[in-house]
Amino acid sequence: MSLNLQRQAYAEHHVKFDCEHENTIIRRRQIKNGAFQYTHQCLRCGEPVGNPIAKVKAEAMHGGPVPDWDVALQEDWEQRRQLSAQAASKAGEAEFWENYNAYLQSDEWKEKRRLVLERDNHLCQGCRRRNATQVHHLTYKHVGRELLFELISICDKCHEVAHDDSD
Ligand SMILES: [Zn+2]
Ligand SMILES: [Zn+2]
Ligand SMILES: [Zn+2]
Repeated sequence: MSLNLQRQAYAEHHVKFDCEHENTIIRRRQIKNGAFQYTHQCLRCGEPVGNPIAKVKAEAMHGGPVPDWDVALQEDWEQRRQLSAQAASKAGEAEFWENYNAYLQSDEWKEKRRLVLERDNHLCQGCRRRNATQVHHLTYKHVGRELLFELISICDKCHEVAHDDSD
């Protein structure tokens, strides 16, 4: 199954958030041990750009005292970037289930399902007591081109257990 919406959503996400750091300004940044570092900060994403430079050189470049690092700029960008990535992944997830449900109606799937039930003699492979009522995916990795050993005949009761993520 192809995930066009997801690909598109991620492409848009990358266009929006892969920053080229076109505009930077020299700023004073406090590092872990309390010391200061003079580094260029991207005015768009807030990331440090390039190697730190000496204070004297930084002040000469800036033509006076160097402004402090804009922490909020960096945090704000990071927050927006994460939200955008989440949205892209959600779009993909919704699309996956939509495609999946359509696939379960296809002749292709019906034939696979038939072969798996036949292989398992219509016996649930979870309990080997009850008749199988459905075919369960052991993995969703190859949905649409499943290998038959990735599918298993199962009864309703065992299927509930198989999908129970509570523990
Ligand atoms: Zn940037
Ligand atoms: Zn069973
Ligand atoms: Zn299942």
